[in-house]
This record gives sequence, structure tokens and C-alpha cells, in this order.
Amino acid sequence: MKAIRRFTVRTVLPEPIAALDTLATNLRWSWHQPTRDLFAGLDPDVWAESRHDPAGFLGLVTRERLQQLALDPEVVARVQAAAEDLRCYLEEPRWYQGLGDDAPACIAYFSPEFGITEVLPQYSGGLGILAGDHLKSASDLGVPLVGVGLLYQSGYFKQSLSRDAWQQETYPVLDPDALPLTQLKEADGTPCVVTLPLPNGRRLHAHIWRADVGRVPLLLLDSNVPANDDGARQITDRLYGGGGDHRLQQELLLGMGGVKALRIHQRLTGGPAPEVFHTNEGHAGFLGVERIQELMAGDQELTWDEALVAGRASTVFTTHTPVPAGIDRFDAAQVKHFFDAGLAPDVPTSRILELGRESYEGGDPSVFNMAVMGLRLAQRANGVAKLHGRVSRAMFSGLWPGFDHSEVPITSVTNGVHVPTWVDPEITAMAEDLAPGAGVGGRWDVVFNVSDERLWEIRRTLRSHLIEDVRRRLRAAWRKRGASDAELAWTDSVLDPDVLTIGFARRVPTYKRLTLMLRDPARLKRLLLHPEHPIQIVIAGKSHPADDAGKKMIQDLVHFTDDPAVRHRIAFLPNYDIAMARTLFPGCDVWLNNPLRPLEACGTSGMKAAINGSLNLSVLDGWWDELFDGSNGWAIPTAGSSASAHERDDIEAAALYELLENQVAPRFYGASSAGTGAESAGAAGPSARGEGGVPTHWISMIKHTLSYLGPRVSADRMLADYVSELYTPAAAGGRKAAAEGYRRSRELAAWSKNVRSNWSQVHVEHIDSSGLSEGPQIGDKLQISAYVNLGVLNPSDVLVELAYGKVDESDELTAVALAELEPSEVLGNGRYLFTGAVTIDHSGAFGYTVRVIPRHEGLASKAELGLVVNA
Ligand SMILES: *Cc1c(COP(=O)(O)O)cnc(C)c1O
Repeated sequence: MKAIRRFTVRTVLPEPIAALDTLATNLRWSWHQPTRDLFAGLDPDVWAESRHDPAGFLGLVTRERLQQLALDPEVVARVQAAAEDLRCYLEEPRWYQGLGDDAPACIAYFSPEFGITEVLPQYSGGLGILAGDHLKSASDLGVPLVGVGLLYQSGYFKQSLSRDAWQQETYPVLDPDALPLTQLKEADGTPCVVTLPLPNGRRLHAHIWRADVGRVPLLLLDSNVPANDDGARQITDRLYGGGGDHRLQQELLLGMGGVKALRIHQRLTGGPAPEVFHTNEGHAGFLGVERIQELMAGDQELTWDEALVAGRASTVFTTHTPVPAGIDRFDAAQVKHFFDAGLAPDVPTSRILELGRESYEGGDPSVFNMAVMGLRLAQRANGVAKLHGRVSRAMFSGLWPGFDHSEVPITSVTNGVHVPTWVDPEITAMAEDLAPGAGVGGRWDVVFNVSDERLWEIRRTLRSHLIEDVRRRLRAAWRKRGASDAELAWTDSVLDPDVLTIGFARRVPTYKRLTLMLRDPARLKRLLLHPEHPIQIVIAGKSHPADDAGKKMIQDLVHFTDDPAVRHRIAFLPNYDIAMARTLFPGCDVWLNNPLRPLEACGTSGMKAAINGSLNLSVLDGWWDELFDGSNGWAIPTAGSSASAHERDDIEAAALYELLENQVAPRFYGASSAGTGAESAGAAGPSARGEGGVPTHWISMIKHTLSYLGPRVSADRMLADYVSELYTPAAAGGRKAAAEGYRRSRELAAWSKNVRSNWSQVHVEHIDSSGLSEGPQIGDKLQISAYVNLGVLNPSDVLVELAYGKVDESDELTAVALAELEPSEVLGNGRYLFTGAVTIDHSGAFGYTVRVIPRHEGLASKAELGLVVNA
């Protein structure tokens, strides 16, 4: 019989161990091993049955067992100690509390997905894991962040394979009552509700759930409420719901409803209002519209322009997509349809549509572009690695015409990973032995005090744990594919704990090139079966349900792994998720990453591998482009961009095989100076290893990786960067904008309007130079007089700059330096003389020009208004 309704009954815990409830509900357990050990110790069998989910565990333990535990003084003491430890963690001042009053009192962080633990499957890949790590590090550092997202009724799908290796998806339905969530309720016990109007008089209601991520509350909106009609109920049915209306409504709820949820949370807790709003990718961008609505409807009666200035000042936008095709775009008419229903009643819809308009060359006028809106609604924006910052500046340069790409106001903060989540307990224990109390991540340099033998032994242990997990998962996967136990004896001996182990796991969009390693299957087979230097590979990844090309790649790969000749050396594991990842990263000796450069914005899985002592073997893309230093792994050379996709795959696959065969494998098996091809490979059997069979060169690379990359790839570093480079300046901007009844916002809005409407009058009439000798020499002082017509504008409205430096054959300035020219004479009729001087400091072709740009203390960058007059 099928039940028509299901619900989850929460256990009532006996008083002495009642704190278990808080310990299970606060997700700090997901990165705090002692809390997990506490639950495991209460009943190891039930812990296994619960799949290591504390809330699930409490639901599974019988009442009798709980009564028993409550009578055991030792258990009670452990529970109370853990509760006390959590209380201290939540209340003690941390890093952020030492920063002073400039740092914002509260930051709202919006994201469409959050990957915190496999128990809360509200993520699909890197973006969500990053958001989860952002919250966790914020918690550890005491950063007063509030997360905002959606609660999807069936999270991301579970992946399995058909007999013929075709990806199958299932969407397990989640019951919020069974998850580590608390519903936001009014004082009278009724659920708090966020309501948005929809077209045709319909309404969208959403309840708000709170997850506690250590110190950080995460608010999740849920449209599955009885007051909604069926359509509205389905809005949060699954992550990145189908195209068109469905997805647009999700994003409206996330952005606009998210701000409303924050206000409710603030009212209930009495906490401070967010001073900074951070939108993680474009999906949540409508939050800026909701804030403009608040400002326009509020007592201050700001106009559209003023509210835009005020909202922008305290908004940060992070872009994650290096390709235009990856950006969320809606039909502008569809966006209009929704806003016409009164979503932001005081904001003219035409203004909202302008925010997302692709008004630049090559843009599509019928489209509403979420990234473009994100950039227009945020005064500060960033990409997620240095290379990605450069790519983004070029990609969005159309919004700032007339400026060099380097001046496009998009900076970068390189992503990081939350170390306590991703580092294996074995590595933590090693660090703890050497620097007690410093915490892993506190002192990465201690790794140099570990003996090579000990480190090598730990690496073998980690590899063995992975292998056990692979065997278990492989058997389960084959049973699902229809195999019987009798056919599966071979899975008991899949992989070898002494063979060089390579990992590759990630989502399967085409650009990540899951199957690059299959380019020459015979060559891969030789590498796997090499008599002295074999390799073994563990692969995992989900394809987007609608992406048949991705599914085909998985199928091709699995067909290769099914071959009895190689299946003991290469395995594909279905259902990649956080739980699998935590065993996979530490267990691999080498983490492989071969995207099509520069399409990997940052990539974080290689970072997670690195903090466990795995070496990266990667295309110089994303984070690796800035952190590869020649001795912390290997760079796979990339073909020039003039090569066709096909040629690139050939060239880069060949380079990958070459590296594996001649560098990576020989070094792992003990050759101290690998790299000269066949001869060194021949000399480097296991016997070539140092004392105790330890490959000393490899170990030195591990130590270097841990000490050099550890601090740099950590999410604590990322958070500190966000706080100093984006959050604190945004808070300062926001405070200024709001002070004295938004005086500066009004001024800046009026000033911008005036500058914009009169900008066409500005031009550089004439430039004189003097001070150069006959044959100009280094050290000569170049004096410049620029005659500039400003029309009705004042000299204080503009910055006149001399741009100078080397020039190439086509007179293009390269490596530009800028010097400000000062107004020195009023010539009448809007004309002014600006003068200044620079010293010529290098030989060769030299050139200069003059430009005029608007200047105002409320602007965060020179290019902000997108206005410039070049001579
Ligand atoms: C880290 C991680 C990702 C993202 O990895 P990328 O390298 O950014 O592609 C995706 N899924 C899981 C489960 C992860 O742990």
C-alpha cells in the first residue's frame, strides 16, 4: 500500500542527553570530527545505518536505547562536553571580532545552491560547494554572514547507470522535517511567510527554513506550502528547474523573496541589518531590485536613480562563468510579464528591463541577461581566480566601451576550500602531533618535520581507504546494473594499494573533457598495465540530466572500464557527492584536471586534493594558472587557440600521456630525477626508491605542496580577501550612501545624470608637448599641455589623464602608465588648460595620449560610468 502522506516524527530526547539535538542540528558536525565521533560512539551500527547523519541517527535510535544512554554517566559527560565545546565555538570572539568597526556588522550572501554536507543535497557542483565552504569559513573566522538560498524538495539527482552505462537519474523527495533545519515561526507559532505577487492575480507564498552552519544562519525559502496553487508549489521542486518561467520564478523568489526573508529573520532575532549584499553568480541578482523597491517605497522617497546608487554601493557581485553561453538569460518579455504583476510596485518595469539589457555590440536586444544585471546592480564585482578575472574583464568589456580591458571594474578573489571539511583525519592527526592545538591549516610548515617514511605510510593508508570505498561502491553499482554477486568476485581485488592512483571527478560538461584520457585508448591501456610503472584511475561525475553529450561521454568511459583487461586498474563510480569526495581527494596521489583553457573559472577539486598531499596534474587554467610553481605538480601544456577543437584534444591528450609516462609515474616509483624519457623510466623500478622504499623526490613534492598551497588554497584566505577587498569597502560605501538621509546618494545620482547628459560636449581640442631634446633620452621630462573643452561641466567633475608608455607597431599603447594633469588655466567658453609632466623612463618606442573621465568620490572605479573621451 502506498501512503498518501508522510511526515517525520522527531524524537524527544531524555533530559541528560538533550544537547544531542543541538549537536545534530548545528551543521558544524559536518566539519568537526569529534562531534561525528561522539555520534558514532553512541551506537556504531545505527550510525552506519543513518549514513553518518546525526539527525537521521537520532530518528533511528530506539527509545529504550536513548533511555539507556541517558543513564550512562560517561555518555552524559561526553555529550555535555561536546555541547560546551559547541557553545564556546558559537560565542567566543574570533578573527573577525578583532577587526574593528569598519568591518560590516552583517553580510548577506545569496546563492542558488549550497553544498554543506551530503545530508543536505542542495547543490549540483562547484558553485554550491564553494558557497558551503564560504559559510563554513565565515563561521570559523567569526564573519557575521547570513546565507540565503532555496530549499529544493528533491535536491540534486542521484546518479546510477543502466546495464549499458547510460546515466539514470532519481530525485529522492526530501522531507524538511527530517533534515537538520528549523522553520522560522512567528511568536504565535505560525510559520513565517514571504509572499510575492504573480501574473493573473496568483500569489507565491514561501516558508523559511534555517540551517545553522556553525555561527552562520542559512535561510532557505520553500514554496511547497499548502497556501500555494500547484504551479507555485512546484517552483522550488528541484535545483535549476527546467528552462523559462520555472527558472525565472526560482530566481525571483531567491532574489526578491530572499531579501524579504532576511528582513523577517532580522526582526525575529533582533540582529543587525545586512550592510553588504553579496550575490554568488547572477541567479540571485533580483535582490538588487528588491532593495531598490525598499528604498523607493521607504520614508526617504528616493527616486530610481538615487535608490540605484544607494543599493549599488553595498552590493558585491561574483561572476563564475568564463563563457557567454554559461550565463543565465531570459526572454525580456517574460521578465516584463512578471514585474508587471507588481513584484516591485514602486519601480518602473522599464528601468528593471534596462538593467538586464545587452546594450553593447553583439548583444541581443530581446534578452534579459542576469550577469549584466548583476554588474549593473553591484558597485563591486569579481571573478574567482586571477586568470578568470582577466577573462571576465574581456568578456564584459562591452559594458565599459572606450576603456582597456585591464580597466574594466571586475577584480578577482581566488576561490578556496574549507580545510577542516576537506582534509582527511589522518592528515589532521599528523599535524596535531607536530603542532598541538594549532589546528590543521594553522601551521602548514610543520609538514617539514614529518619523516618521509611516516608521510609515505599515511599516503598509503589514505590510498587504501579509497580502495576499500571503490570496491564497495563498484559492487553496489554493478548490482544496480543487474549483475549478480557471483559475477562480481573480481571487484574484491580492484585497484592496488601500492599503485600510483590518479583521480578525476567533477560534473561532466563538455569543456571539462572527461574523456580526454580516452583519446588514444591503446596508449591509456599501456599506461594502466605498464610492467614497472602502472597507474590506476578513479573517475566520477554527474552529467546534467538534459545533456546527452555528457551522458555519452560517461558511457564511453564506462565501456572502456568494463573491459576485463583493465577493469582492475580503472573504475567509474556513480553518484559523485560530498561523501565520496571526502575519501577520493585524500586517496589519490595525483589529481587530474584537463579542461579546455580558459573555461574552468577556478576549479576547487585540485585544491582539496592538494591539502591532502595529492599532487596536481593540470592544464594551466583557473587557480592552477596562478599557483603552479614548477615543483608542486605538473602543468599539462595547452595547444594554441588557433588549433581546432579536435587538434587541441589530440595535442593535449598526447602531452598528458607523455607526462604520465615519463615524469609522473617514474617519480612515484622512485626515480629521483625523472624526465628524460625512456632511459630514466627503465632505471626506475620500485627498487630505485630510497630507504624503506620511499620515493624521496615525490615526498618532497608533497611537503612542498602542503606548505606552499595549504595556506593559499584555504577558504580562510578567500574569506579574509573578501572581507578586506570587497566587504569592508562595500560597507563603507553603503554607510556613506545612506548617511544623512541618503544625501550623498542623491548628490551622486544628480551629478551622474548631469555628467551623462552633457558628456557629448567634452572633447580634447589640442595637445602641446615640450621638454624633449632633439633625440629624446631616458630621464627627459615630457611636459604636456592639454586644451580640453568641458562644455557645461567643471574641472572638478573630471579627471584628465596622460596615458603613456611603450607603443607597438600599430601605435597601440602597451603597458600603459597614467599621470594626472592638473587644471592650470581657465580659458573661457568651457575651455580649460590642463598641464603636467612625466619622466621618460625607458628606451624604445614611446607614445602618449590624453583622456578625460568623470570623477566623483562616490565612484569606486574610473570606468564605473562607462564614460571616457580619448584624444
Ligand atoms: C569540489 C567539488 C566539486 C567542484 O569541483 P571542480 O573542481 O570545481 O569542478 C563538485 N562536486 C563535489 C562533490 C565536490 O566536492
